Amino acid sequence: MATVKLSGIHRRFNQTTAIENITFTVPDGEFWVLVGPSGCGKSTILRTIAGLETASEGDLYFGETLVNQIPARARDVAMVFQNYALYPHMNVAENLAFGLKMRNLDPSARQAKVQQVAEMLNIAHLLDRKPKQLSGGQQQRVALGRAIIRRPQVFLLDEPLSNLDAQLRDETRAELKQLHQKVGITTIYVTHDQVEAMTLADQIVILDRGQIQQIGSPQAVYHQPANRMVASFLGNPPMNILPATYDQGVWRIGDQTLPCPPHWQQISSVSTNSQVNLLEAVRFDLGIRPEHLHLYLDSQDKFSQPSSIDAALPINFPTLRITVDLVEPLGKETLIRGRIGTDIMLNLQGAGLWQGKVGDRLSVAVDLRQLFLFDYQTGKTLIFADN
Ligand code: ATP
Repeated sequence: MATVKLSGIHRRFNQTTAIENITFTVPDGEFWVLVGPSGCGKSTILRTIAGLETASEGDLYFGETLVNQIPARARDVAMVFQNYALYPHMNVAENLAFGLKMRNLDPSARQAKVQQVAEMLNIAHLLDRKPKQLSGGQQQRVALGRAIIRRPQVFLLDEPLSNLDAQLRDETRAELKQLHQKVGITTIYVTHDQVEAMTLADQIVILDRGQIQQIGSPQAVYHQPANRMVASFLGNPPMNILPATYDQGVWRIGDQTLPCPPHWQQISSVSTNSQVNLLEAVRFDLGIRPEHLHLYLDSQDKFSQPSSIDAALPINFPTLRITVDLVEPLGKETLIRGRIGTDIMLNLQGAGLWQGKVGDRLSVAVDLRQLFLFDYQTGKTLIFADN
């Protein structure tokens, strides 16, 4: 097993820079997840670690060893891809044993290892079957087994669950986590699925356009996102980003206002201490997650009929008025997409039995303690929610 250290890795393809200045160290035995939108460079990083791509610049170490010049087959990594790539003419046992056979392990030791890994992955009853006689989830478990059976130094997974249906994906994800807890091999896992990233990772690396946006534990990146991209990438439905300008203690959002949160003293002091209001007419972005908006049916501007999950909401929360554009009942909750004015979208969550409809006018109470402030130009987080 090994620590994996990337130092200033760049990869260019002709004019395109796929990844830029990628630097991080995965400690021995940890499970790290690379996550980000399509084309952000996740697979290029993984393939560079595997030795399937060559870095244009930068150094890669396994433990203390510089591996830049070491070919893929000598790096002692195992990689699992989205397509399981099992040998169709071999049965499960032969597929599992293949890598060991290539390493000249004797047959009885091979058989013992196959049995051990098959039991670990709950596929011991399938050892005689050919891949085409297995379900997608079973095939993926065989692919995982084949990768870990020879205890590589580093385990690399590229979207390994994306071919599975939703329920199987959840089950296999949980099994994968347990498997890592058992074998403790340093693992780097690529996905565009934020739920996989949050549930599996010791640390998440969030990427966008070839650059690292933030590295942190699942809780840290969710609650203290470094910028607007991270904030709106993690969370489903995503964080609402509201264009806003500051004007003497209030935020203007379209034709509506929200008071400045009392704890945002930085903002108030910049605004009141200067001769000219430095913030006036400057565009910012406010961020608020759907779970921190609370929904009321609008009855002559009175909050008379709480319809949200939070019936005990303090009555003095400020509100935004929205028009409902989309209603998506999910059973335990209802996702609602609304609009402030003509073009500012707002996602929120109502109760499972919420009865509203498209075109309804609603008041949405805003928990000011949960507001984020982002620099409009750079996207950097200027003020975090108070959590
Ligand atoms: P996805 O989630 O869609 O698989 P990704 O985050 O894994 O995307 P990469 O496959 O690493 O992204 O690609 C990063 C960027 O590098 C993309 O813009 C891609 O078009 C480009 N790229 C990757 N491989 C090559 C190549 N062989 N030649 C040219 N450009 C490439």
